[in-house]
Amino acid sequence: MSHSPPLSDLAAEVVPLLSELGVDTAGLRGGTLAVRSPITGAQIAQLHEADAATTEAAIGQARRAFETWRQVPAPRRGELVRLLGVELRAAKVALGRLVTLEAGKIRSEGQGEVQEMIDICDFAVGLSRQLHGLTIATERPEHRMMESWHPLGVTAIITAFNFPVAVWAWNAALALVAGNAVVWKPSEKTPLTALAVQALFERAQRRFGDTPAGLSTVLIGGRAVGEALVDDPRVPLVSATGSTAMGRAIAPRLARRFARTILELGGNNAAIVTPSADLDLALRAIAFAAMGTAGQRCTSLRRLIVHSSVRDRLLPRLIKAFASVAVGDPRDESTLVGPLIDAGAAAAMVRALAAAQAAGGTVHGGEPIAVAGSDGCYVRPAIVEMPAQTGVMTEETFAPILYVVTYEDLAEALALNNAVPQGLSSSIFTTDLREAERFLGATGSDCGIANVNIGPSGAEIGGAFGGEKETGGGREAGSDSWKAYMRRATNTINYGHTLPLAQGVTFDIA
Ligand code: NAD
Repeated sequence: MSHSPPLSDLAAEVVPLLSELGVDTAGLRGGTLAVRSPITGAQIAQLHEADAATTEAAIGQARRAFETWRQVPAPRRGELVRLLGVELRAAKVALGRLVTLEAGKIRSEGQGEVQEMIDICDFAVGLSRQLHGLTIATERPEHRMMESWHPLGVTAIITAFNFPVAVWAWNAALALVAGNAVVWKPSEKTPLTALAVQALFERAQRRFGDTPAGLSTVLIGGRAVGEALVDDPRVPLVSATGSTAMGRAIAPRLARRFARTILELGGNNAAIVTPSADLDLALRAIAFAAMGTAGQRCTSLRRLIVHSSVRDRLLPRLIKAFASVAVGDPRDESTLVGPLIDAGAAAAMVRALAAAQAAGGTVHGGEPIAVAGSDGCYVRPAIVEMPAQTGVMTEETFAPILYVVTYEDLAEALALNNAVPQGLSSSIFTTDLREAERFLGATGSDCGIANVNIGPSGAEIGGAFGGEKETGGGREAGSDSWKAYMRRATNTINYGHTLPLAQGVTFDIA
C-alpha cells in the first residue's frame, strides 16, 4: 500500500526540500535544462545552464582558489572536510530523499549514498594528517633522498546520474585535503542533488571561515560543459565517471594535452557460483547485486556463471525472486526496485532482451510495469538463460538484466568472467579455499574488484575503487587513491662539502 503523496505533487515536494538544504529556489525555473523525476516523468525544474563564458570564469576562479588553498596546512584543509561531514550528517535524511526524487533510488539506497559521502569525509579528515612521502636510501655519502607530495591544481569532476552525490564526494573530499580546488559537472539528469550538495558545502565553508572563492564550483549543463573542462589547460586532472563511450570520447582529448585522468567507466560484472557455494547466501547476494538500484549501478551483477550441477537448485529460486520483487514508486517503503532513469534506458532494455532472444536466450520477466498516475519507466527485472556468452551479454545494458550461463570446470568459468571488454567488478560464491584463492590470484579475475561470497556491488570507501580494461583503469576513494590528486616530487639533498655524482660519473672541471 502506498503512503506517498499523490504523484502530481512531486515538484511541490522537491522545492521545499531544496530550500531546506540551502538551495536558492528562485533559480529553479526559466532555464533551458528540463529536469525530470524518474518516479513520474514529471518536470521538477528548468535550470539555467553554464555557458562557455561562465565555465571559463569558473575555471579561472578555481585556479586562483587553488593558489591560496595549496598553502593552507593539510590538517586545516581536513577541517573543512570534517565540517562538510557534519553538514552531511545533519542533512542525511533530506539529501537522501532528494536522491530518491531525482534519481529514483529507494529510500535506503538514497540514504546509503549520503552515508557514503559521510564515510569518505571521515576517511579524508584522517588522511589530511597522513599525506606522507618516503625517505629513500641514497648511494651518495652525506645525501638524503625523499619523495614529497604537493597539491596538483584544479580537479574537474564529471559525474553520472546513477550516483549523483557520492561520486562527487569520493573525489572532492580527497582533492580538497590534497590542496586542490574542484569544479563539478554533474549529470544533466541529476543536477538538483548537485546544487544541494554545493549549498551544504557552502554551509561548511561559512563555518570554517576563510576559504578562497571558487574552491568548489558546480557547473550545470551537458556534454559541452564537460568538454570545456576536458580541453582547458588550467585543469591538470579530470576525474570522469560515466559510460565507456564517454571515456572513449574524452581520453584522447585529455591525452593530447597530457592531462591526468581518473576514468570510472562502464562495467559488465559477473558472479561465479561453484558447487560448494552456500546457495541461500548466494541467492540473497545475487538478488541485491542484480536488481538493486534497478540494475543501474556500474557494479550491478549482469552475468551469472553457474556450475551445471548447481543450476537447477539455484535458477528456479532466482526466477521466483525476480518475479515477485516489489517494483514501484521508490518512496514506498515496500519497494525494492524503483524506476529506470528515463525512456532511453527502458528502450535499451527492450533492445537487449530482443537481441538475447534472437541469440537463443530464454527470457523470464523484463516486461514494463504500469504505476498508476506515473509516466515513469518501471520494469520487471529480467533473467535470461543464454546458450553461450555472446553478443549482447558482452555489452553493458544499464538496466536489470541478469544473463545466466553454465560451466563445467573453474578454468572455463574464469575465462568467461574475463572474456568481456569491461573489467570493473566480479565475485565468486564458494566455500572451497582453493577456488577462492584461485579467483583472487594472478590467473583469476582480471577486474579491479574481486569478491568472495559477496556480490560485485556495494563497495566500502576504505578500498580503492575502479576497474580495468574498458572500465578505464582509474582508482578513487580509499587506500592510496589520494596520490592521483597530488603531484610527486623526488628530492635529493646534499648536506656535505663534495659533489659525488650518481652512477660514479665524473665531471671534473679545471
Ligand atoms: P554518461 O556517459 O552518459 O554521462 C556521464 C557524464 O559524462 C555526464 O555528466 C555527461 O554529461 C558527461 N559527458 C558525456 N559525454 C561527454 C563528453 N563527450 N565530454 C565530456 N563530458 C561528457 O553516463 P550516465 O548514463 O550518466 O551513467 C551511466 C554510466 O556510468 C554506465 O555506463 C555506468 O557503468 C557508468 N558508471 C561508472 C561508474 C564507475 O565507477 N566505474 C560509476 C557510476 C556509473
